[in-house]
Amino acid sequence: MAYILICEDEPHIASGVKFNLEAEGHQVTVAGTGEDTLARIAAAPDAVDALILDVMLPGIDGFEVAQTLRSRGWLRPILMLTARGRAEDVLRGFEAGTDDYLPKPFDLAILVARLNALLRRQQWKVTPPPPDVFVFAGRTVDFAAQELRVDDTVHPLTLMEVNLLRYLVQRDGQTVSRKQLLAEVWNVHEDTDTRAIDHFMSRLRKYIGESPTHPKHLLTVRGVGYRFDSGT
Ligand code: CA
Repeated sequence: MAYILICEDEPHIASGVKFNLEAEGHQVTVAGTGEDTLARIAAAPDAVDALILDVMLPGIDGFEVAQTLRSRGWLRPILMLTARGRAEDVLRGFEAGTDDYLPKPFDLAILVARLNALLRRQQWKVTPPPPDVFVFAGRTVDFAAQELRVDDTVHPLTLMEVNLLRYLVQRDGQTVSRKQLLAEVWNVHEDTDTRAIDHFMSRLRKYIGESPTHPKHLLTVRGVGYRFDSGT
């Protein structure tokens, strides 16, 4: 059982989602605006296990909600509801810190399955099983705890940041294309030229403490993509 907050301004969608999640044994609250969602999570950040977030909202949009939550350090799963066929929304959502998405209209059974998958991954984080740690050049990536430690500084990571870093670390020294990253990390199979990944990279570089102009570990391979180099 988990506490789910739904941020959705269309009552018939919100009630359909609520009904199905309650049938799964979850406790569900609906917020009709982004502002209300932010206020509820600010008031009790630990009382919400996951957020289902619509993009198109009457006040601030879903991107801004996600970005604000992440900047405040709220790192629980966010499943975003996007309009069908808008790859740029999906990428913008990931950039804002969401963990997964579903295009509207969606099948409620799929939504429940996606949400439960996110909650399971979050649960692994809460009770970290085997150590899942990678150390390079004085930095420690703790995949299970979802954090990057550099000296005394701990940078909490979102699931997407962790997935991206894991993918790169597993291919230490190999160049990977943007398209490959999109398909295999984000599960986006669109032929879009996107800068969304670049924003992730600059964020990770900042965490690692790289020089933005002369990075040593997260390298841009011009015209292709990226290469992680642990330096070992
Ligand atoms: Ca809406």
